[in-house]
Amino acid sequence: MRRLFVAGNWKMNLVRETGLALASGLAQACPKSHPGVQVVVCPPFPYLVPVAGAIANSGVELGGQNCSAEKPGAFTGEIATAMLQDVGCQWVILGHSERRTLYGETDALVARKTATALASGLSVILCVGETLAERQANQTDAVLDRQMAGSLEGISASDLSRVVIAYEPVWAIGTGLTATAEQAESAHAHLRKWLSVRYNAGLADSTRILYGGSVKPQNAKSLMEQPNVDGALVGGACLKLDDFLPIVRAAQELRPA
Ligand code: PEP
Repeated sequence: MRRLFVAGNWKMNLVRETGLALASGLAQACPKSHPGVQVVVCPPFPYLVPVAGAIANSGVELGGQNCSAEKPGAFTGEIATAMLQDVGCQWVILGHSERRTLYGETDALVARKTATALASGLSVILCVGETLAERQANQTDAVLDRQMAGSLEGISASDLSRVVIAYEPVWAIGTGLTATAEQAESAHAHLRKWLSVRYNAGLADSTRILYGGSVKPQNAKSLMEQPNVDGALVGGACLKLDDFLPIVRAAQELRPA
């Protein structure tokens, strides 16, 4: 049985005081690693260090929201994977639709970032997902295939064991529209099949595939109880403990300790 995974992507939100209050509250609520559910928070870069302090010795892990594909050097404004590790990150989110659409990140760049992150020892939350126009044109599977093939180009089977996939339909991110449990399950099953063809059945079976897109306390359980949905990547609802904690608790109910 796959361990569920609940990650909070703070995006460009919160400040030191509100972020630390949220992180400390979460650490208190998740004092130690839970065998059935992994919990990760991804604050903005300036708050990684204080948040690392707030969640130290708890069951909450730390992730960055992006990284450079390059090794440390003359890349103004960029953050190296070694720096993320240096401040306590185990994870980095890559290929988020906001990076793809607002900052022009291509599958090829996402693949380079993924390779750099994995080579330096980080684990990766790799996001894929179709737009509304693509879904309406019945292109969802084709778009997912293209993003998976492009973003995982050159990634070996042994490295894939440190990749979690996040299926995030673009039309559901931050919109209040959520994929139905059936829509999510169908896309996740397709992604798992893709993994079995590109890699192998064992790896496809062990890889976690998260759903992201307006996950809330009200819909988290019905999404995560789908057989191929292994957790959630949460944006808006991770900014308040009263919203994020019930999502973590829903996962813990599905995978009791
Ligand atoms: C996200 O940005 O990864 C996300 C899923 O956001 P939201 O939960 O706000 O839709």
